[in-house]
Amino acid sequence: MTRKALGLVSALALAAAMGLSACSTTTGGSAMTPPAIAPAPGPEAVDVHTHARPEIARVVDVALDLTADFNAKTLAGTATLDILAIPGANEIVLDIRDLDIQDVRDAAGQPLRYVVGDNDAVLGQPLTVYFPAFAANERRKITIRYSTRPNAAALQWLNPSQTAGGQKPYLFSQGQAILTRTWVPTQDSPGIRQTYSARITAPEDLTVVMSADHLTPNGERAAPHSEGGGMKTWRFRMDNPIPPYLIALGVGDIAFAPFDGRTGVWTEPSRLRAAQWELEPTAQMVTAAEKLYGPYRWGRYDLLVLPPSFPFGGMENPKLTFATPTIIAGDRSLVSLVAHELAHSWSGNLVTNATWNDFWLNEGFTVYFENRIMESVYGHDRAMQEQVLGWDSLQDTLKSLPAADTRLHLDLKGRDPDDGMNDIAYEKGALFLRTIERTVGRDRFDAWLRGYFDRNAYRPMTTAMFLEDIRDNLIKGDAALESQLQMDAWVYQPGLPSNAVAPVSHAFEPVDAAAVAFFKDKGPASAIPWSDWNTQQRQRFLGWRPEGLRTGADWLTNAQLADLERTLNLANEGNAELTFAWLQIALAHRYQPSVATAEKFLTSQGRRKFVLPLFQTLWNEGDWGRGNARRIYAEARPLYHPVTSGSVDQLVGRP
Ligand SMILES: [Zn+2]
Repeated sequence: MTRKALGLVSALALAAAMGLSACSTTTGGSAMTPPAIAPAPGPEAVDVHTHARPEIARVVDVALDLTADFNAKTLAGTATLDILAIPGANEIVLDIRDLDIQDVRDAAGQPLRYVVGDNDAVLGQPLTVYFPAFAANERRKITIRYSTRPNAAALQWLNPSQTAGGQKPYLFSQGQAILTRTWVPTQDSPGIRQTYSARITAPEDLTVVMSADHLTPNGERAAPHSEGGGMKTWRFRMDNPIPPYLIALGVGDIAFAPFDGRTGVWTEPSRLRAAQWELEPTAQMVTAAEKLYGPYRWGRYDLLVLPPSFPFGGMENPKLTFATPTIIAGDRSLVSLVAHELAHSWSGNLVTNATWNDFWLNEGFTVYFENRIMESVYGHDRAMQEQVLGWDSLQDTLKSLPAADTRLHLDLKGRDPDDGMNDIAYEKGALFLRTIERTVGRDRFDAWLRGYFDRNAYRPMTTAMFLEDIRDNLIKGDAALESQLQMDAWVYQPGLPSNAVAPVSHAFEPVDAAAVAFFKDKGPASAIPWSDWNTQQRQRFLGWRPEGLRTGADWLTNAQLADLERTLNLANEGNAELTFAWLQIALAHRYQPSVATAEKFLTSQGRRKFVLPLFQTLWNEGDWGRGNARRIYAEARPLYHPVTSGSVDQLVGRP
């Protein structure tokens, strides 16, 4: 960053502090009040995935007024942006992608000149709005009238047949990493925190939910308001400043069931009972999380269990985690996903990666915290099992990625931020924090981490700022400890430093013995004590591979595969993680009877974590695999969210 730019940053920091101190008096002065929005300091905080120039003018609040048209598959209406700028600023640059802009007006309703710039395949377009020069300490609103397009990458418009109920359509959004700009014209950068409110009009037989409170501008709990013509309006407010990737919307035939006074679940009525039973441990998890790292600062914690096309396991939208229905296994075995999304209420939503190069600060901290919640609620054994599964997955990732992409701090310039969404951020990040915990002791580590969340609440974080915080508040000049931790190697070097230690779970010892007996020594599947094992032990068994296995190498016979499939009833497995693990073995052997299982699995859910690796496995299996991949994808693609189909398109091609 140039000297001139640094001058602008400090001028804006002042403007931001002044602008927001006026606002924060209306929300009360308790310790829970979000502080003034400060721009992220330092050149490494410059986000290469936005067109915005927040050092000149930045958005601090977004007010949406949108109508959902399920026939046209569009959201149309206005976004009113509240803007702070340095004195003399006469433009603001926003991010948009596939939006149709109708006009931009000032607070008096006068049209403002605007220019939509060239499209970048990853970033979309800059929308530059021009206005008379800002005076010192001024704050202004502009209103953009626009509509989304049916192909908006954040939005998925489902036909009734793609829902459980089969009667009514459904709409949901997925903003992370840089897709919010396909439905909200704003500065779409994780370091530019914004409060938001919304007025959403939708068909009256549907319910609207958002990552916000159902509140009127006066702070009253709002009931939907009938608009006539078969439409109803719902109002929302999010008073805590959040990164724009957390603005989220769901519209469908959904109902609510509580767990306790502050937690509950939304989903389609026919799935509500099952979801309420499966996810009931949520209430206990919130209490456990608060005991570990301080108060939950977002009011309610609810879950929205989506239709099967939801592309991720979960998305930590504040107050309302969005989750895949594939975690409803019938035995609460996959609830660590709730612990994960809940942990994001501290790591990610409170302390946020300033740019996608530091995604590990969101995910590594969250995987660490998730495991601590699991340990609190389910005990040490279960937590260790999940740590070992994470370690195994990390080893595979380390082998498959180019060395430069195995650093925690990445350089994603010119690339899609999705390239950084892998086990390096999640599992290597968590392993780093466990290494620090083991070295300094849990009590000292916990005291530091709790303080880290408090000191940095509602602020963007970079790797350099994290290192500074931990050196100031935990290491405190202890040179021996500093060299023992190897922190710079962990964050800036590829692979794992020499102080990384593999976790051990004794519960996996009999599993490994059974795996060797079946897979290596060719014993019968009837000797596998499958019914004695929990889901994590079963995952470990199906994840077993011979040492040094090459991709494409067949290491089981058809007779062994048939024995395994029949004895463990794998063709009818109801747990999505286990179905996935079985198909990864079976398809890599071109085991024909498993194609029907794969087809059913790939056309009944759209979670990218399952879908993409299975198509990749098929793709590696020559004409047999590619033919099956193309045929199944042609059938499955209409089900998938653009996040998933975009990834599979790159592999298989558009059918
Ligand atoms: Zn996460």
